[in-house]
Amino acid sequence: MKILKTLLVAASLGAIALASAASAQDKGTVGVSMPDKSVARWIADGANMVKTLKDKGYAADLQYAEDDVSTQLSQIENMVTKGAKVLVIAPVDGTTMTDILKRAHADGIKVIAYDRLIRNSPDVDYYATFDNFQVGVYQANSIVDALGLKDGKGPFNIELFGGSPDDNNAYFFYDGAMSVLKPYIDQGKLVIPSGQTGMNTVGTLRWDASTAQSRMDNLLSAHYTDKTVDAVLAPNDVLAIGIISSLKGVGYGSGGKKMPVITGQDAELPSVKAILAGDQTSTIFKDTRDLAKVTVDMVDAMAAGKEVTVNDTKTYNNGEKIVPAELLKPILVTKDNVQKVLIDSGYYKADQIK
Ligand code: BGC
Repeated sequence: MKILKTLLVAASLGAIALASAASAQDKGTVGVSMPDKSVARWIADGANMVKTLKDKGYAADLQYAEDDVSTQLSQIENMVTKGAKVLVIAPVDGTTMTDILKRAHADGIKVIAYDRLIRNSPDVDYYATFDNFQVGVYQANSIVDALGLKDGKGPFNIELFGGSPDDNNAYFFYDGAMSVLKPYIDQGKLVIPSGQTGMNTVGTLRWDASTAQSRMDNLLSAHYTDKTVDAVLAPNDVLAIGIISSLKGVGYGSGGKKMPVITGQDAELPSVKAILAGDQTSTIFKDTRDLAKVTVDMVDAMAAGKEVTVNDTKTYNNGEKIVPAELLKPILVTKDNVQKVLIDSGYYKADQIK
């Protein structure tokens, strides 16, 4: 009898567990479309999104597009066909989504642009991202500080790199950085020996590290045989690592030839280690846990028919409309605050950066 009772209790507990598993999923499926796994942050973004969605009772359909536009479009098409409730999209190319989003909206599916703006579409409901202009400002500030430009030091030689021209963020990063650097360039305190400026010239298609590395190789051999490069504006960590390889290839960082000041973004592990080793100067930390949280809050508010909280309604014109956005704050990371920002916050464990 006792055994039977135990079995019955166990069975009913099992039934409760099953029921709550079912109700945990019954808020519907959210399609999460990420660009690639070659930049580690997107792996963290995907994992954080799935976890946060599940915690709030949604099912997640997470797909990575291998940095390929048509792969991403067919993955999103599939999400629409399967009846996703909301699409959360970080586009490979922000200009290619117009038709599929029209279809999604016609089916009543809501759309959130994640980290990167989706352009040329009226069918983008919200945008969750970081203050992308501020990212560029911080990158440039770290160059200004490390070179001592405010103390009147200089002139210094600098080269500029931009992100991918099909990524709206890349222009914000570049413009933010130039808002700080341009006065020094105009005064002759920063000199660009290659003369190369502007996103059309310094952009790096698909954020490809080997493209940045070979551009740096070419800059060094064409313009630096009798000069040293003192600073490089690198828009993210993956490109910074490519640029560092190129510099090391011609002897920077050894034998008295100092590494230039080099910026970055994403607080990727190889770059955090490079910062601690003195090969990279700074990175920008954008906490993907927070981005997942605000994005899922948007999903939840829309699903409940409640007002979605945003803190920016003027910056992000996508060519069709101004997309209401929630902008999170990026943090500049240098050798001095790695511990506080990346370890004490629990983002990384101390042994990961050794
Ligand atoms: C993101 C960066 C990332 C870059 C390359 C940008 O849109 O904001 O964090 O480094 O894409 O993936």
